[in-house]
Amino acid sequence: MAVPSHTSVKSRDGVAVLAGRWPLLGQRRPLAVYLCGVITLALVAIILFAGATEFRWNDLLTFTALLLCGAVCIEATRRLGIPAGVSRDMLSAWWLPIALLLPPVYALLAPIPLQLLLQKRVRETFVHRRVFTCAAIGLAGCAASVLFHAAGGPRPTLSGGTGWPILLAIGCAVLFALVNTGLIAVAAHAADPESHWREVLWDRETLLLDVVELCLGVIVAITCGINLVLLVLALPPVVLLQRSLLHAQLQAAARTDSKTGLLNAAAWQREADTEISRARRNGECLALLIIDIDHFKRVNDAYGHLLGDQVLIGVAGTLRNQLRDYDVVGRFGGEEFVVLLPRADADEAQRVAERLRVRIARMRIPTDGTEVTVTVSTGIAIMKVHGDDLIELLAAADLALYRAKELGRNRFCLPVLPTPPLCPPDSEVAPG
Ligand code: GH3
Ligand code: MG
Ligand code: MG
Repeated sequence: MAVPSHTSVKSRDGVAVLAGRWPLLGQRRPLAVYLCGVITLALVAIILFAGATEFRWNDLLTFTALLLCGAVCIEATRRLGIPAGVSRDMLSAWWLPIALLLPPVYALLAPIPLQLLLQKRVRETFVHRRVFTCAAIGLAGCAASVLFHAAGGPRPTLSGGTGWPILLAIGCAVLFALVNTGLIAVAAHAADPESHWREVLWDRETLLLDVVELCLGVIVAITCGINLVLLVLALPPVVLLQRSLLHAQLQAAARTDSKTGLLNAAAWQREADTEISRARRNGECLALLIIDIDHFKRVNDAYGHLLGDQVLIGVAGTLRNQLRDYDVVGRFGGEEFVVLLPRADADEAQRVAERLRVRIARMRIPTDGTEVTVTVSTGIAIMKVHGDDLIELLAAADLALYRAKELGRNRFCLPVLPTPPLCPPDSEVAPG
């Protein structure tokens, strides 16, 4: 079943039932409004541009040929599957030529059959997500197409060998990537307002992929402009690229916890082991935190597992936002998270644990007219003080976590040593 989380929504009232049937209604209000706005804009654009377009058989033939190439690409990689979350593909190799060679309405329509094929043949996901993807790609293609035809004349030719249309095509491809990324980034930010814009908009890997897609799209457009039959030569390399891209993403997904996007337990342990060996070699300090959500079962019992999942996602987002790039953050299982802080001593580890505690306690998860808050308890272990390897550090942090729970939760603790107590008194860490 493709949408398992929605089957577990508790039928406490009509809203939960409706949200189960129409997941769009279960989204945060700004996100739902934004998704509806983008979809409406795409529909209006389709109506307006369809009315202004003179349909020609040649255009229809080019459109069909490029869509067929896209469909072959999807079918050829279907067995690999698609990683969860926002994934990347090479389908821009077909969207871009449609935008550059044909009137804008074709760019708006092109994503519909291919997203339908992805939904039916590759992975069934929430319908609103697919429809939004169609709208975002369609609007991006439409913007590129409008610019290309406005600046290059009604039927600019890409295959004449002159530089200007090719430069213009590259500019339009950049516009396509910017509009598409921008529309999706706003949705990602509305879904998780805690996330940094830089994180949802840009990373080196994404930029590289955008450049590859851009080049591929322009090359296919030029090839297609020379002769449609040449698509037969363009198809195999694009399929190969698509396959290797999906393969790389599936490999990355195998390291990741699908619910929170953090490292899963096995991947975290591998990375933590590497960091510990490095710290030992360089004589550096290092701290390990185990963070456990307090009374999480009560949250599930009171508001349902779907809301519980939103809490987990929120906590994971806060951890990511509050920690440094080189800190190693993972979901250890259930409602437990683990953080490795390279080069952190006891003072620094306690400062980090306190900051995380405060930030998580400030989180508000909206549900049915109310807001859910949670607190966390944290066990801290410092290398060379409480253990020398991962197993010892985990055991020490686990004991400290147990102590934090016993002392009333919503606090951090270090393991008890024969020295003066390191656990802060209640007055220092007041429950929020
Ligand atoms: P404590 O403060 O002592 O940690 O209490 P707790 O309720 O947080 O701990 P307990 O171990 O009793 O319950 C953990 C709950 O976490 C039970 C389990 O159903 C829930 N849980 C584990 N994984 C998930 C998940 O992926 N999603 C949701 N929604 N709940 C989960
Ligand atoms: Mg717990
Ligand atoms: Mg627990």
